[in-house]
Formats: sequence, C-alpha cells, structure tokens
Amino acid sequence: MKTIFEKDKGVSGICLCDENENLDFFDGIYKRKSPLGLPNVSELEALRHYKELSDRNFCIEKGFYPLGSCTMKYNPKVNELLASLEGFSDLHPLSSDEDCQGALELMYKLQEALKEITGMDAITLQPAAGAQGELTGMMVIKKYFEVKGEKRTKVIIPDSAHGTNPASAHLCGFEIVPVKSNDKGQVDIEALKSLVNHDVAAIMMTNPNTLGIFEENVLEISQIMHENGSLLYYDGANFNAIMGYTNPKLMGFDVVHLNLHKTFATPHGGGGPGAGPVGVVDALKDFLPSPVVDFDGQKYFRNCNIKHSIGQVKAFYGNFSVLVKAYAYILMMGQNLKEASENAVLNANYLKEKLKEAYLLPYDEPCMHEFVLSGEKQKHENGVSTLHIAKALMDENTHPPTVYFPLIVHEAIMIEPTESETKEVMDDFVKVMLKIADEAKSNPEKVISSPHSTPVKKIDETLAARHPNLKFVQ
Ligand SMILES: *Cc1c(COP(=O)(O)O)cnc(C)c1O
Repeated sequence: MKTIFEKDKGVSGICLCDENENLDFFDGIYKRKSPLGLPNVSELEALRHYKELSDRNFCIEKGFYPLGSCTMKYNPKVNELLASLEGFSDLHPLSSDEDCQGALELMYKLQEALKEITGMDAITLQPAAGAQGELTGMMVIKKYFEVKGEKRTKVIIPDSAHGTNPASAHLCGFEIVPVKSNDKGQVDIEALKSLVNHDVAAIMMTNPNTLGIFEENVLEISQIMHENGSLLYYDGANFNAIMGYTNPKLMGFDVVHLNLHKTFATPHGGGGPGAGPVGVVDALKDFLPSPVVDFDGQKYFRNCNIKHSIGQVKAFYGNFSVLVKAYAYILMMGQNLKEASENAVLNANYLKEKLKEAYLLPYDEPCMHEFVLSGEKQKHENGVSTLHIAKALMDENTHPPTVYFPLIVHEAIMIEPTESETKEVMDDFVKVMLKIADEAKSNPEKVISSPHSTPVKKIDETLAARHPNLKFVQ
C-alpha cells in the first residue's frame, strides 16, 4: 500500500495497490484532475457551522414534542453510556457464541422481560422497526396457515389503523378488508361480524387505537376471530398506554410487535435506528425468524433450529445498540414501568380536558396515552387550517402534533404528551394552544402566515416536496 500526497495541489489519497505495481495506470484513470472543492476553514469555523446546524434541529432536549403516535419521550442518557461500553459497541457480529456470552445474555434477558410485559410465549428481537415487526408477524401468520394447509387470503383492519398496518399485510400478500369504526371511535362489532369468514387469516388492531381510545369490546372481538379459526395481531407500538396494567395476551391476541424506540426510550426520529421485536403465543413459536437467542442452563446460544422458521428478516441479530438501551431502560424502571403508563394516560387526559373547549373533540371519551382534536372549527369559522395551527406552534418552541392522521378525523390534531412531561410544560402548551385559537379569530392572517421565527419560513409544501431545495436559507 502506498500513500500519495501532492502538497502543491492539496490532493491526498491512499492507493490500494502494491508499491511495485505500475502507478501510471492508476494516475491516468483515477487521479483527480483538479483539486477537490473542500472549504478552506479553520477548526473553529467548522465547529461553529455544525453547531449552528445542530441548533436548528428540534429535539426532545429542546422543547415539548407532542407528536401523536410517535412517543417522543425523554431517552435517559445513561442508556447511551451503557450502549457505548466497549464490550457491546466493539463486538464483532460474527463472534462465536462462546465469545459473546454477555451480549447473548442481554438479548435473552430482554426477550424474557418482553415476554413478561406482553404476556407472549416467545420473542424475536430481529426486526429493525415497528413496520418490519408487522411484516414479520404477518409472515408468521401466513406460514402458520400454510403449514396447517388452510388457504386464508384476507386480513381485516379497522379504518382508524396506522398506515403501516395495511401496508405490511399487503406486502405480505394479503388482501385488506377495512372494518369501520362506530360513533365511539371503536371497531363496529356488527360490521366486523359481517366481514368474518373462512378467507380471513387475521385482524390487525391497535389497542388503544390511533384515536387513543381503548377498544372495550376487544374480548368479544377475540372470541369472534378465534371461533372463525382466525388470529389476532396486536400493533404494540404505543405500549406506554398499557404497560403493567394489561397485555395483549390477556386481550386475546396471538402476535404482537413492540417499538423499543418508542416505549422503551431509545432516541428515534429522523430515521434513527429502531427495534420492533415480535412476540407470539406458543402455537406460533415454530415460525419465528431464525436464530432466536436461547439458554441451555449453562450457556447462551443462537438457536437456528426453528422448525418452520420464516427465515432471517434482518442482518445478524437486529439493531443491537437499541436492544442494549431498551434493556437498560427496563432494568432502571422496574415496577415503575406501570407508573410510566399511568402518567402518560394522566397527561393526555389533562390536556384533552383543557383543550376541548377551544378545539373540537370529535370523540369525547376518556383517552389513553393520546387524543385527537380537530381544527374544523377554526377552519370553517376563520379559514385557519390544522396545518396553519401546526406551523404557528413552531414559533412557540413546540414541535407540532401529528396532523391529518388518523384519517377518520377531518383536520386531525393528534396529541401525545408522553409520561416525561411536567404539569408546567403542559400548562404552557395549553396556554399556547389557546393563544393560537384566539389569534385564529382575532388575527387569522398571522396564524396563516406562520411560522415567523424559524430559519425556513412558510414554504410552498407541494413545491418543497417535489423539488426540495436543501441548501436554501432564508
Ligand atoms: C410508530 C408506529 C408504527 C410504525 O413503527 P416504525 O418503527 O415507525 O416502523 C406502527 N404502528 C403504530 C401505531 C405506530 O405508532
């Protein structure tokens, strides 16, 4: 190997060839003809540039982040410290079982903890996201019926579902059958009964659903499905609503995925790494992705001997650092996981009650970890839409809630305060939301032209999506 360094041209590089090889060939083809256009700045200038960029980024450490369904709660920093321990972060994924007993032990114990939290009998840690967990779960269900020799082609999904549910079931080759919600925002049981037949492999449900409402008839739904020989899939992305109070097994579900990056406090957003473990009941154990981490009483090992495994769904063993952080969080919280759910639900109900005068609340029911308002009143009375309200919040150092989802609420504003926030933070949010509701009446133009204080002001959303100008600074 030879290092090439041409001082006068500011060009440097490493040549991956033998010193004796003819370098003319390399020079002629690969060598840069003109200097690379790198900025010529001091270390301090570079530092200021990146600090300024990072300051523009909104994060949970900077302010309230009530992004519905996304659980943007506090991720304790000790998790990062533990995940960066050399023994974890420098471990080679091809190490033999003997050489990574510690990592395997951690994975095994995390599986055991998640079994207890979900009530399921077996867990795979492989999937890298909630949506991948859904696909994995649906593949397990598909294989189960295949091995049983039953041809079931349909999956029932409530119209309030998270978009990934129909996407995952469809990707797995199932036909989607939507079931409508009743006026309480829950699955309409009569409508469900009319859809159930022997083509139906499963129902995919979120409970609480995306309106933040607990499906009261879940046991009846489970009975209807099981009597038909169908399975029940539980989207457990938002487990902070129920942790320690109930679990999908008690509700009659057969498969569940969790979002470790939401409920179990590992940083996400901006595409950051995730983990979507899947839990199944005994009858589906033999279909899980291979390998599963196992323990023979003496040592931990990767068990590839899974009878009807759907195969591997992720390179190596999942997003290992996320697993370390989630396990650290679970150990740190212990019994207090239950209190986390309690606070998540309390915070959401507090905000809901404080805001339901000023904004429309289409489903006025006690909520779980989140609730959905509608901006319809502001839109019809003053021409201020939910999008305008969301942008106005950015001027108040508050991340906007999830908007225009779930689809069954017009002008939806989906608010999830999470368990991390104090009453003071929530009272400030209430003040800001009420102020925007007032301004929508007294000065609609101001709200409509928001945001005013962000680095990038109001943009043409369509143009920005089609022709993103990533360098543009106003
Ligand atoms: C976040 C979420 C998902 C998808 O999880 P990803 O990790 O983003 O793939 C699925 N369902 C619900 C209800 C969610 O909130």
